[in-house]
Amino acid sequence: MNSQSARWNGVIDRYAKYLPVSDATPLVSLSEGNTPLVRVDNFVEAIGGKFELWLKYEGLNPTCSFKDRGMTMAVSKAKERGAQVVICASTGNTSASAAAYAARAKMKCVVLLPHGNIAQGKLAQALMYGAITVSVQGNFDEALRIVRELGETGKVDVVNSINPVRIEGQKTAAFEICDQLGRAPDFHFLPVGNAGNITAYWKGFKEYHAAGLADRLPRLFGFQAAGAAPIVDGHPIEKPQTVASAIRIGNPASWQGATNASKESNGHIGKVTDEEIIHAYKTIARTDGIFVEPACAAPLAGLIQCVKAGTIPPGSVITATMTGHGLKDPDNAIKAAGFEPFVVEATKAAVMKVIGL
Ligand SMILES: *Cc1c(COP(=O)(O)O)cnc(C)c1O
Repeated sequence: MNSQSARWNGVIDRYAKYLPVSDATPLVSLSEGNTPLVRVDNFVEAIGGKFELWLKYEGLNPTCSFKDRGMTMAVSKAKERGAQVVICASTGNTSASAAAYAARAKMKCVVLLPHGNIAQGKLAQALMYGAITVSVQGNFDEALRIVRELGETGKVDVVNSINPVRIEGQKTAAFEICDQLGRAPDFHFLPVGNAGNITAYWKGFKEYHAAGLADRLPRLFGFQAAGAAPIVDGHPIEKPQTVASAIRIGNPASWQGATNASKESNGHIGKVTDEEIIHAYKTIARTDGIFVEPACAAPLAGLIQCVKAGTIPPGSVITATMTGHGLKDPDNAIKAAGFEPFVVEATKAAVMKVIGL
C-alpha cells in the first residue's frame, strides 16, 4: 500500500503516510472516503447565517456512514494480526460497516445491538452482510461492556472505537476537508455520541496543520442530544433517550478525547433537543436536497443555536459532518415528513385535483 494510485482506492491507500500501516498490512477496503463536500447556501439563508457552510456528506461511503473510514483500518489491522472473528457493539452503523468489511476480509463478524432500538436500514445491512447479529436486551453502553469483556478473552477482535486504529482511519475525513477546501475551516461542527469521531477530527486537523497542509486549526463544535448529553451534563446518563439513535449513548468511550478537542480548539460541546433535531433534519432536506439520518441534524441544530446567540463571526468558513445517510432510518423520515402520499383513482382528473391544477 505504498503506492498512491491516481484512481481512488480508499483512505488507507490515499493517506498511508499518516496511518499506522506497513507493506505487511493487507488492504481491506471498499474504496471508502473521497465523499463530497457540498456548499449549502439555501440552508444558511433559511437560518439567517452570514457565513459559508459546507457539508461533508459521509452518507455516501460504501455502507452509507463515516464508520467505513475507521473500519477499513480496524479490519485491515485485525487481518494483519491473523484474527478470525471481529466483534462490536453498535447503535447500527458500526455493525453495518464491520459486517461489510469482515465479509470482504473473509472473517467472521459478530454484532451486538440494543434490542428494539435500531434503525431498519442498519439492521438490514448487518443481516445482509451475514454478520452473526445479537440483539441485547439493554442499551448501547451495556452492549459495549459485554464486548469489552469478550475482547479480554483474546478470542475476538474488538472493532469499536475503543480500538485506537478506528480513530486513525476516521481522522482522514479532516484531511479530505482541508484538501477539498484548499484550507482548514474556521469552525467544524459534528454530532457527538461515543465521541470517537470528534477525537479523530481534532487529531486529523492537528496532523495536517503540523505537516504544513492546512493553514489554521478550526474550532470544534460538537453536539449531543439533550436526552443523551453526558458530556454537557457532566455525568453518565443511565437511560439515554433521543430520536437520533446513532448518538443515543450515555457513557461515551472517548469522553476525554471530546473534552480535549473542545478545550484545545477553543470549541464547544453543546446539546440540542429532539424537537430542534427534527426541525434541522427536515430543513436541510428541503432547502438543499440533502437527506441525512437524525444524528446528523444535531450539529445543524447546534449551528442554528449559534446563529441565534450571535457566536459565529460573519464571513466564517464552516464545515459540518453529515455522518450517515437518511435512508438508514426510513421510519423516522416518514414520521418527520409530516404528510402521507395522496391516494387517488387512476385518472388525470383525480391527480389534477390533489395537486391543485
Ligand atoms: C457513530 C455515529 C455518530 C456518533 O459518532 P461518535 O464517534 O460515536 O461520536 C453520529 N452519527 C452517525 C450517523 C453515526 O453512525
